[in-house]
Amino acid sequence: MPLVPMRQILDEAAKGGYGVGAFNVNNMEQIQAIMQAAHDTKSPVIIQASRGALKYSKMIYLRNLIQAAVEEFPEVPVSMHLDHGNSVETCIEAIKLDFTSVMIDGSLAEDGKTPNTYEANVAITRKVVELAHPLGVTVEGELGCLGGIEDGHGAGLSVDEVNEHLTDPAQAEDFVKATGVDALAVAIGTSHGAYKSGRKDPVSGKMLPPVLAMERIHQIHDRMPNCHMVMHGSSSVPQELVDVINQYGGKMPNTFGIAIEQIQDGIKHGVRKINVDTDSRLAMTGAVRKLFAEKPEKFDPRDWLGPAREAAYQVYLARMTAFGQAGHVGDYMGMTLADMIKVYAAAK
Ligand SMILES: [Zn+2]
Repeated sequence: MPLVPMRQILDEAAKGGYGVGAFNVNNMEQIQAIMQAAHDTKSPVIIQASRGALKYSKMIYLRNLIQAAVEEFPEVPVSMHLDHGNSVETCIEAIKLDFTSVMIDGSLAEDGKTPNTYEANVAITRKVVELAHPLGVTVEGELGCLGGIEDGHGAGLSVDEVNEHLTDPAQAEDFVKATGVDALAVAIGTSHGAYKSGRKDPVSGKMLPPVLAMERIHQIHDRMPNCHMVMHGSSSVPQELVDVINQYGGKMPNTFGIAIEQIQDGIKHGVRKINVDTDSRLAMTGAVRKLFAEKPEKFDPRDWLGPAREAAYQVYLARMTAFGQAGHVGDYMGMTLADMIKVYAAAK
């Protein structure tokens, strides 16, 4: 089937009471690993690219790689999503590249760093919705700010600042009504990247895991049971993946991720899209380090990209199973953007 609008994947996930992993890609091996895992677990899936990924892959390559993926596995509903669009222009660019979903991150200004005012966030998000929905394209917005910086995007907030920028449930309700977004990214204390905690035990000095404001998700779900929420910065950063990296010459101290159980609690309360990027990066880097440490004579890129692809595949397989999307491939026929245009027009 052709790429489907993300809205349909989220609506179906809500019906089935499960979450869907949205996995970031930069290259062929990641796309192949995601699709193989989706095929093997019978999972609908969201593939997403950040502005950094589009720049790295020179856009056209990524678009065509994802088209190849759709051709290889026509039974898998796949949506292609722009992660953290920073301007109306970036969203238009993605739509022209056949993305079936875009995120406009109006929580930050166009520089991707400075927290925006609520009014400015509503205005730009509304603008993207007005532009995307007549084309059948899904829109994700964000309210509140996450910690960390990834691909040069993020406010770089400290732990204390993150707590000041959590999503306010009442404001979330107003935001969804005012903008008409299909999905809402919420800030509940997660951060992008592998270092999700700045908390230390005051006595022992040991690093502590991040504290998540899960109650915000519960409250938003109570107010808006039909709102599809998105958890960003939701890699689990498994210690065993970090250990492989460190064992073979890497230096990644004090990493922390989000426990799968917390994500599953979110899924019970309206989280439908879970962004995972760091975990596949860790898996691939560990596999490459291990390969070169054990077989320093190797020099064929297939010798290290192959194991990297296999390691990423294992991560996707585990996440698809944990989020509950596994087994749902045959639940529905994929809609086209033309179908979705009619749905949006009818809802007006
Ligand atoms: Zn994000």
